[in-house]
Amino acid sequence: MKTKCIKCGFESEENLEKFRVPICNICFRFAPNSDDKFKEYASEKIESSCLYSFRKFSEIGNPQKRAMIKKASQGNFMSRAAFGYKIENKKLVPAENFREVQEIFEEFLNQNISLTQLAKKHNFSVNGLKKILTNFTYLGKIRFNNQIHQGNHQPLISSTLFNHVQNKLERLKLNKNCKIGE
Ligand SMILES: [Zn+2]
Repeated sequence: MKTKCIKCGFESEENLEKFRVPICNICFRFAPNSDDKFKEYASEKIESSCLYSFRKFSEIGNPQKRAMIKKASQGNFMSRAAFGYKIENKKLVPAENFREVQEIFEEFLNQNISLTQLAKKHNFSVNGLKKILTNFTYLGKIRFNNQIHQGNHQPLISSTLFNHVQNKLERLKLNKNCKIGE
């Protein structure tokens, strides 16, 4: 039986289900796990056609394709937008996966998790993760002529959270430098 994805409206017999509502495999991938957040996620509709290329590749189940989808969903594939953003009408706008950025910042700050573990969890290299955690783009700022300016795009991270993360990164670096033989 065909069902209709609650978020993008995609109709398919292969749609999944979450919190008892039908959801397509693409929207499922980014769906939050808490009931409240999920409702909010589902209420923000997206065009099914926007997900066309993800769907096209995700039907081919090999790991290489899946890595491509992951990359595409991170914005590295189609554009050079920072992870969590996409380029729409030449503007930087939050992508479907934008909540993962906040998750990463919060997990790093609040959980006792190493950069390596966190990178692994979200499928980044450690350097890729560090780039995310220090990227001013998430504050709504842009780097231009080696200076930081206010941008026109929506921030994904509060400056408080960003600053706390910078402090923790700094502390980790200091701790590491203190260890002899590393
Ligand atoms: Zn969908």
